[in-house]
Amino acid sequence: MSAAVSPELLDRFAAIVGEKYALRSEAELAPHLIENRGLYHGSSPLLLKPANVEEVSAILKLATETGAAVVPQTGNTGLVGGQTPREGKSDIIISLERMNRIRDVDPVANVLVADGGAILADVQKTAEAHGKLFPLSLGAEGSCRIGGNLSTNAGGTAVLAYGNMRQLCLGLEVVLPTGEIWDGLRRLKKDNTGYDLRDLFIGAEGTLGIITGAVLKLYPQPLGHQVAFAGLNSVEEALALFNLAGSLCGTSLTGFELMPRFGVEITAKHIEGVRDPLETAYPWYVLIDISTSDSAETAERMMNALLEQGFEAGLVQDAAIASSVAQQKALWHMRESMSEAQKPEGGSIKHDVSVPVSKIPHFMQEAGDAVMAAMPGARICGFGHMGDGNIHYNISQPVGADKDAFIARWHEMNEIVHGIVLSHGGSISAEHGIGQLKRDELAAIRPAIEIDLMRRIKRVFDPANIMNPGKVVNVE
Ligand code: FAD
Repeated sequence: MSAAVSPELLDRFAAIVGEKYALRSEAELAPHLIENRGLYHGSSPLLLKPANVEEVSAILKLATETGAAVVPQTGNTGLVGGQTPREGKSDIIISLERMNRIRDVDPVANVLVADGGAILADVQKTAEAHGKLFPLSLGAEGSCRIGGNLSTNAGGTAVLAYGNMRQLCLGLEVVLPTGEIWDGLRRLKKDNTGYDLRDLFIGAEGTLGIITGAVLKLYPQPLGHQVAFAGLNSVEEALALFNLAGSLCGTSLTGFELMPRFGVEITAKHIEGVRDPLETAYPWYVLIDISTSDSAETAERMMNALLEQGFEAGLVQDAAIASSVAQQKALWHMRESMSEAQKPEGGSIKHDVSVPVSKIPHFMQEAGDAVMAAMPGARICGFGHMGDGNIHYNISQPVGADKDAFIARWHEMNEIVHGIVLSHGGSISAEHGIGQLKRDELAAIRPAIEIDLMRRIKRVFDPANIMNPGKVVNVE
């Protein structure tokens, strides 16, 4: 539902947080109406910054009573338009930026309790100050916040070893659209007590309630850390090397990232501080990250053994091992800047897909053939978390092509790539979620019963349809 919001009603909402924390001017609202890629631009008459759970509860209670739609926004780094208010509607934005405290750290139980608005980097630093690791790490970590990370079930660079947010969270505190507060801040690893409400809210992209607090899992700080960059001839060889790494390193293998030559070339060209550490060019590269909790020597031994055996098997053509923390960071910086490096190359059509790991070479070959047949000259930049089966299958426009005409073919390219993904039993959204971008496509490709169940769940939690309406699943 999206009732027009009268000035009187806006005043009632503003009174809950106080006028100072109710933004109404165009200039103040502007940065909250667009998302990172500029794909969505929405409208909103008001942004509220509640100070605590009670204020969030009062806002949602009033929203349900009056039918005024709300959209939660924390770091505004989401990549599918989930946090962007709808265009032409009066969605009220709720920002948790004032609710940014770390509430508690228990290094013995290995848990940290944070507000939904705590910045991810602050959670990482607090864990580190207690000699622990909070393993979620991603490019946007300086600005994204725990509520957003949970709501998108963020993955990041270490999913291979630690899992995504769903695996990193023990308990939640959530304000429901009705204003009721669910205190599920349990610290239990084992808790088999009926339906898992926590897992429903994680990944719900703010459509079922607002996450105001979370119990997060901590891990030992690794004592050994090795990062290497290897040049390879094919994706098949990358898969074989990944299997070898799995058997030699087990759970110490924290990252295995695939990159194409084109991606490395443009990153070295456009991103400051990035250079290709290998002298010869190869069609494919992998970044290998190994972390060990017992000693630094174990990580070193594992990396040397993996590269040696990789060379002997003819899988690795050349490799460089980072010899300092700065070099390790530089290698990761190259990988994390790959999307950014596409911008100066013109338009880029993105896909965030996953297939079973064993299918990655088939997917890359088939998608490459189909895209090139449909758009000769397209420059494919398929890179990402190979170890998780997750490829960011980006396509840069042909050199000299018209950017707008290229972007106009976004859906056509999506259909081609997603069709191949689905034929391999994959997913059209591996880690960025559904939001506005993939809502209709999700409804078209998933079995009707699945979408129907989602709609029914949404109606139970949000009978007035005020929570981020029009995102993930449409119930109107
Ligand atoms: P927002 O963008 O503000 O919101 C995201 C969604 O969550 C929206 O639907 C919003 O309505 C909802 N939401 C926000 N806060 C709450 C709340 N408190 N309660 C309920 N709903 C809420 N993701 C990965 O998985 N792996 C990566 O490697 C990765 N790399 C990235 C790199 C970059 C440079 C960027 C920009 C993004 C990357 N992402 C990655 C996506 C990232 O996971 C999300 O952008 C981030 O987790 C969202 O957090 P946020 O605080 O910015 O949320």
